[in-house]
Amino acid sequence: MPELPEVETVKRTLNQLVAGKQIERVTITLPRILQRPAEPEQFADMLVGRTIESVERRGKFLRILFDGLVLVSHLRMEGRYGVYEQGEPVELHTHVRFHFVDGTELRYKDVRQFGTMHLFEPGDEFVLPPLNKLGIEPLDDAFTLQTFKKTLAKRTTRIKPLLLNQEYVVGLGNIYVDEALFSAGIHPERSADSLKTSEWARLFEAVRATLLRAVEAGGSSIKSYVNGQGEMGMFQHELLVYGRKNEPCSKCGRSIEKLVVGGRGTHICTHCQPLSKPRRTVKLSSK
Ligand SMILES: [Zn+2]
Repeated sequence: MPELPEVETVKRTLNQLVAGKQIERVTITLPRILQRPAEPEQFADMLVGRTIESVERRGKFLRILFDGLVLVSHLRMEGRYGVYEQGEPVELHTHVRFHFVDGTELRYKDVRQFGTMHLFEPGDEFVLPPLNKLGIEPLDDAFTLQTFKKTLAKRTTRIKPLLLNQEYVVGLGNIYVDEALFSAGIHPERSADSLKTSEWARLFEAVRATLLRAVEAGGSSIKSYVNGQGEMGMFQHELLVYGRKNEPCSKCGRSIEKLVVGGRGTHICTHCQPLSKPRRTVKLSSK
């Protein structure tokens, strides 16, 4: 599933490829992708004649800004956008085609068919589902150690499911949560309220650094992720624990293990991410 870095990469690519283009017509062959309005003709009519101003991101959602409308798009498991010349063969699983007046088209392809599209009047998208309950953006300036701790530190939930919950911090999925917890040396089953001040600081830095590094690299290509220009992401070889079961830990050399936490496959080094008390107990500071 695309996480923040992948969606950010799609956003940047689409901005280069479709900003300024005007819609001539829209072809919809799988109406169930459409959530608002759900009626394909109405959905298409609302977009005809509109020009894409820019493409933004909120959490794992794309916000495609038109003059007077916003399209909120979630790629879910396998959704992909690509830009084509009209007349190019239409690949299997292409469900929505935005035909532009300049003779090109933006195609939405989705093998698993879990993706969604909502249309809103500008501004309404933030007060209605699916964006209305989203938490803080981890790459925004507003995301500080203080806000991070304030949002999570008193909760008794295990830290991994908490980081995956989009109502608190957005954009993190299974891959980058595992990576961030490994970097910070924190076991995914620790309850949030058991984390020490120093651990929150390490986790905060790890979340930001992991995401920034992945954005820089163009997102991960773990499954079948491809950005809007058809380029595969390049981050996969840099993943430290995710997908590395039985491989040596980059910090201590012991084997990476895979367990299930909150129903999600989870990669950890049990030596570097101990569940009980930290391996090297340092003298507690006055805090
Ligand atoms: Zn280790």
